[in-house]
Amino acid sequence: MTFPSNASSPPTHTLPGIAQLFDKSGATVFLFDDQERLLYANDQYYDLICHTRGTHPTWPDIMRDNYARGQGLIIETDDIESWIQAALAKRRSQTYRQFEIDAWDGRWLLMTETLIPEVGLLGIGVDITQAKNITTALKEEYQNALVKAETDVLTEMGNRRALERLRKLLVSKGRYHQVTALMMDIDQFKPYNDTLGHLQGDLCLQQLAQLIRSCLRLSEAYPIRLGGDEFLILMLDAPLSLAQQVAQRIRNSVRESAIPHPATGSGLVTLSMGLASGRITDSESLSSLLKAADDSLYEAKRSGRDRISSPRGTSESQS
Ligand code: GH3
Ligand code: MG
Repeated sequence: MTFPSNASSPPTHTLPGIAQLFDKSGATVFLFDDQERLLYANDQYYDLICHTRGTHPTWPDIMRDNYARGQGLIIETDDIESWIQAALAKRRSQTYRQFEIDAWDGRWLLMTETLIPEVGLLGIGVDITQAKNITTALKEEYQNALVKAETDVLTEMGNRRALERLRKLLVSKGRYHQVTALMMDIDQFKPYNDTLGHLQGDLCLQQLAQLIRSCLRLSEAYPIRLGGDEFLILMLDAPLSLAQQVAQRIRNSVRESAIPHPATGSGLVTLSMGLASGRITDSESLSSLLKAADDSLYEAKRSGRDRISSPRGTSESQS
């Protein structure tokens, strides 16, 4: 078999000669005719699709075979026939296509397919497994570093960097109707540290962080350690009434834990909490919301500590 030629073209090469070149190239080479039958493939392609060398199956049959046996090319679909139809349409829609494929043996290939009029579809693939693995490892490392950078080392809650990322997310999505902020601060924590030592103080912070986390049942509630003995929970799409329940649950949980405190009236560790609720449309509206929650927290401190304070005009603060 030969490639088409005309009188003015260079000498025609027979396929065996070209095939030898392709076999030694290290690339994966194949040619399908316009009926999607495999006209030619080098050894690398036959190995890739797990077919006997020298056979001429159609492209849909190769895909069906690989899909059914879980060998050769990885095809991610629940419906192989629809997948084949969609892929066939793509194969013939562009003169040149470039895409990545992966195989069950762990290899990745960068494929190019070129439609050659009156010849068929020529495919050339090069192995990019090594580069792909490095990219995957780097992506994983980057993700881990990102999580680490946004996590408070002591409490494993989010830190201020996490808050900044949330701010960007909230502003870019702009779809959260009601965001509620619950700001919390440990009562008389300085004397706690001064009396029991900084190490015990750290343990207390960890214990409280764990308690706070265990009280969160909303799917979109983000606990953050703002710094020192101050915590924040941002609750997305949560009305104030729901956030009040969360605050009360945390308060009850802290009370039940009965962590001894040498310098409070009750002799136990307590939290003061401030709530605020609002709609986030831009960065400033989140800042205003945090300021309002901080004002509520200040009000809780001012009016005696160990209580939950809601914004003015809403239901009364609980003590
Ligand atoms: P208030 O009821 O008004 O909040 O009184 P307070 O003593 O808690 O005052 P404030 O919140 O200003 O004090 C925070 C204290 O938290 C100061 C410091 O001793 C302690 N602190 C801050 N960061 C850490 C930390 O990482 N570990 C420990 N152990 N203590 C910390
Ligand atoms: Mg405090």
